[in-house]
Amino acid sequence: MTRLIFLGPPGAGKGTQAKVLSERCKVPHISTGDILRAAVKAETTLGQKAEGYMSAGELVPDDLMLDLIGERLSSEDTAHGWLLDGFPRNVEQAEFLTALLDEIEQRCDSVINLEVPDDVLVSRMLERGRADDKEDVIRNRLEVYRAQTEPLIAFYQAQGLLRSVDGNQALSNVTDALRAIVDKPDVNATAD
Ligand code: AMP
Repeated sequence: MTRLIFLGPPGAGKGTQAKVLSERCKVPHISTGDILRAAVKAETTLGQKAEGYMSAGELVPDDLMLDLIGERLSSEDTAHGWLLDGFPRNVEQAEFLTALLDEIEQRCDSVINLEVPDDVLVSRMLERGRADDKEDVIRNRLEVYRAQTEPLIAFYQAQGLLRSVDGNQALSNVTDALRAIVDKPDVNATAD
């Protein structure tokens, strides 16, 4: 059973790596960004509410996100594992997730912090060319990450769950490092 949270700035490779691991571990990859982009495309109520925040590089409000993740993690296909990519994004979401997992009697194995220098992040995102990958929006997403998401590193470190991985290396090397963590979730958790 694998339950992992992927932390790390936009462009760090969370989605790419989560996809690979999800196939290997046979557990659902839950990307809140993918769910929101699908909702925007389908023009659902959620999509209509989220679109403006996403195109500005801001976080979609918690009241929308908490319901979404609560429902997703309570469904049958996530009962035996999941990889969370893009959630939590702030302390409120992280506290909600802790309480939710408690309630549904699940435990997160590890929180993966993918570390990549800013200049590499920006060039990766520019290459990717997603709708919200314009230079000023990228800059804002990085600022939002620093202000709201980065504090989660300390949050999970305090819980002994944090595992840092160098995300600035060949894709397959990052995957190997993550596989080692999945195979031995309790070894070498970063204590400092
Ligand atoms: P991502 O694909 O994870 O980079 O997410 C793309 C965009 O979706 C973000 O810039 C946010 O606007 C929104 N988003 C994704 N996940 C969340 C979340 N957990 N909380 C708030 N907004 C989110």
